[in-house]
Amino acid sequence: MFKALLVEKTDDTPRASVQELDESRLPEGDVTVAVEYSTLNYKDGLCIGPGAGLVRTYPHVPGIDFAGTVEASDDPRYAPGDKVVLTGWGVGETHWGGYATRARVKADWLVPLPEGLTPRQAMALGTAGFTAMLAVLEMESQGLVPGQGPVLVTGASGGVGSVAVSLLSALGYEVAAVTGRLEQEGYLRGLGASRIVARADLAEPTERPLEKAVWSGAIDNVAGPMLGRLLGQMLPGATVASVGLAAGAAFPGQVTPFLLRGVKLHGINSVYQPYEARMEAWSRIAKELPLERLEEMIVPATLEDLPRLGADILKGQVRGRVVVDLSA
Ligand code: NAP
Repeated sequence: MFKALLVEKTDDTPRASVQELDESRLPEGDVTVAVEYSTLNYKDGLCIGPGAGLVRTYPHVPGIDFAGTVEASDDPRYAPGDKVVLTGWGVGETHWGGYATRARVKADWLVPLPEGLTPRQAMALGTAGFTAMLAVLEMESQGLVPGQGPVLVTGASGGVGSVAVSLLSALGYEVAAVTGRLEQEGYLRGLGASRIVARADLAEPTERPLEKAVWSGAIDNVAGPMLGRLLGQMLPGATVASVGLAAGAAFPGQVTPFLLRGVKLHGINSVYQPYEARMEAWSRIAKELPLERLEEMIVPATLEDLPRLGADILKGQVRGRVVVDLSA
């Protein structure tokens, strides 16, 4: 038997509850993992609750990330006792995920636990941290180095935002954090932001083709009108890493920043990264991110807390990174 947060849908409303399930209900896969920690991302909020087209069949076990120890493996790359991490690949969406004491997945989807991280720290990072690292790597590949001007992070108090602020600051960048929760200023400065920008300052669309050029790079977690605004405020040649859509997928804007300033808009997809790219991002973040800052972001949780926290994250009310302890 194993314990899981099972989402069932008998009428139109999904309902999540913690249940004991028989081992035979585990999905197909070549590696079985005793899950030690999982976490909560925006997407998990959707999969615990409304589904939003991500979950195709019920009953379902959400959890897009997990870290734990291999119990059994039919794949030569992994053996019982190995510590592993999983992010993405549709796990927690179309395949049962990490909100369970046991998970069964394809070996291709796993990476070994990065050196220097515990399973708990890996889940304090999770998809959010991994994605923040991918965004930084993308901006660096386009020539970003410290000293060119401040880097903007939107949705800064959220999961991706919190890790992005810490990481950029640890790498020597001047970081400007955009937040709708100005009461989080102390938290964001503690993570390394040197400037706080009120969400309201960027929330309204503008007719102006260009604004004053300020930002040397940006990690955008929210899209909507804010993405249109920040594109017009980028320094010449700067890259915006488009990560999320917390304010809506559509964005108003003009091509003028692309044509007159050579601004670049690059998409980040954390779900289907090849093994080498996942290893590079994980080893870089393990090396660069000060682990004491990671501690400041952690909200500890159990499986039982997830229905409430899942609803909170959809309302933009979770700060930092929820870490789910499967042994609790
Ligand atoms: P999160 O913890 O909920 O953070 C989102 C943050 O955005 C909130 O904390 C809030 O920060 C801000 N926000 C919320 N509603 C907003 C609104 N209406 N207008 C402006 N800002 C708003 O979520 P997350 O896990 O960090 O994910 C952030 C986004 O990235 C989500 O859209 C997620 O789906 C996406 N994502 C994409 C990838 C990828 O592979 N591309 C990977 C991970 C996540 P403040 O209160 O500080 O303003």
